[in-house]
Amino acid sequence: VHQHLRRMHLLHDKAYVNGQWVTAASNKTFPVVNPATGATIGTAPDMSTQDTQQAIEAAHQAFQTWQDTTAKERSHLLRKWFDLLVQNHENLAQIITAEAGKPLIESRGEVAYGNSFIEFFSEEARRIQGEIIQSPIPGRKILVEKQPIGVAGLITPWNFPHAMITRKAGAALAAGCTCVIKPAEDTPFTALALMELAHEAGIPKGVLNVVTSSRENAPSIGNLLCTSPLVAGLSFTGSTQVGKLLYEQCSTGVKRIGLELGGNAAFIVYKSANVDSAIKGAIASKFRNCGQACVASNRFLIENPIYDSFIEKLLQEVRNLKPGGNVGPLINQAQFDKVSSLVEDAVSKGAKVLAGAKPSDHGKLFYEPTVLTDLTPEMKLYKEEVFGPVISIFRFDTEEESLKIANDTERGLAGYFYSQDVSQIFRVSKKLEVGMCGVNEGVISTAEAPFGGVKESGVGREGSHHGVDDFTYIKYVSLGNL
Ligand code: ADP
Repeated sequence: VHQHLRRMHLLHDKAYVNGQWVTAASNKTFPVVNPATGATIGTAPDMSTQDTQQAIEAAHQAFQTWQDTTAKERSHLLRKWFDLLVQNHENLAQIITAEAGKPLIESRGEVAYGNSFIEFFSEEARRIQGEIIQSPIPGRKILVEKQPIGVAGLITPWNFPHAMITRKAGAALAAGCTCVIKPAEDTPFTALALMELAHEAGIPKGVLNVVTSSRENAPSIGNLLCTSPLVAGLSFTGSTQVGKLLYEQCSTGVKRIGLELGGNAAFIVYKSANVDSAIKGAIASKFRNCGQACVASNRFLIENPIYDSFIEKLLQEVRNLKPGGNVGPLINQAQFDKVSSLVEDAVSKGAKVLAGAKPSDHGKLFYEPTVLTDLTPEMKLYKEEVFGPVISIFRFDTEEESLKIANDTERGLAGYFYSQDVSQIFRVSKKLEVGMCGVNEGVISTAEAPFGGVKESGVGREGSHHGVDDFTYIKYVSLGNL
């Protein structure tokens, strides 16, 4: 794969600033490792605040003309970018698999999902409309226009290295903003491949910039993006801990902020549910990307009368999951250690192991698909997002009890439940304290729907026509004495 990747014109080992492929001023680089094999795929520039400042200035300069392009021009450029993304589908998938470790079939899925945001926002660009409001004063008109905020800083994670960039950048460009993107240190090559295609599509220099850096430099680059007077807003997807820090840093300049942080999704199966369908949803929701998704189900709550049959069928499905086959590795050692320690903590406090609960012999970062029962609130798995292939099962007797457990968390991103009882469907979807609710389905993300959370899971929505809100402000123009 590596030989093949090297020949690919999409694979860049330089960052992308002002339409050029550049090294760090210090000439420093950092290695990028394939988590499935431990092999180094290549190196990327380890940029500093000095390099980031140049990218911010380029984006600021580009904004002066980009903001005056017509929505139709931006729509066409986004469409061209989308067409190239589609043409390069397979190569993009291979780069994702090489640096994020997910099975190729999942990378292909991510490319389709990631591309769909550029397609969607190429269409949405032309529908960012203003309004004329009735004035209470004669001879006056109230005009309302949506304007781009300016330069947007985008900081993205490794778990969906393509889609988490396009979901933000598509909306930003549609609105007329320019971007400085800081991709995760684990997955810079996907970001750079996206830039190659944006460049080929003719997106003007400075409109999109990618600054790559090691983990060591991420905090100072993040701080500059949050505090630079030339940056108008920040959009971040990642951990709650880093998100809170960036929220605080953005307060200094009262910057616009969008945050997509961690979840702690409940997956509830009520007694009226179609159990086979619930099992399918559970597997999809839990094991996509080896559980490394903020919308992945974290706590499985099963109503008593169907508890035994659910578990029996679930175990049959879990036996079909193969590390190194349809389940990939964890992204890095830190993530692997976190998953193992959360499982050990639960087992030491009395959780029962029905499957896995140990490293897989497939490779260093592979963990066995795990099923634990008899979970209690004292276990860390109750509160913490495991971000790994671990199903934690709770038993409950009443709808009230299920909601109490489901909502007993500071997080509120996604929640899922299975029920055939129509009244219950309306009751529970209303009461779940989440931004996104899957009813009788386990995978719900799509470019057309608003993605985002409540409570500590975030601020704002991405995707859908709401996705441009983070990148626009409302300008009121009062026309008087007409
Ligand atoms: P994870 O724990 O899943 O790696 P993080 O929130 O740590 O999630 O990382 C998400 C993104 O945030 C990555 O691009 C990472 O480099 C970046 N990042 C990490 N720490 C900081 C920080 N202090 N300031 C700004 N960005 C950061």
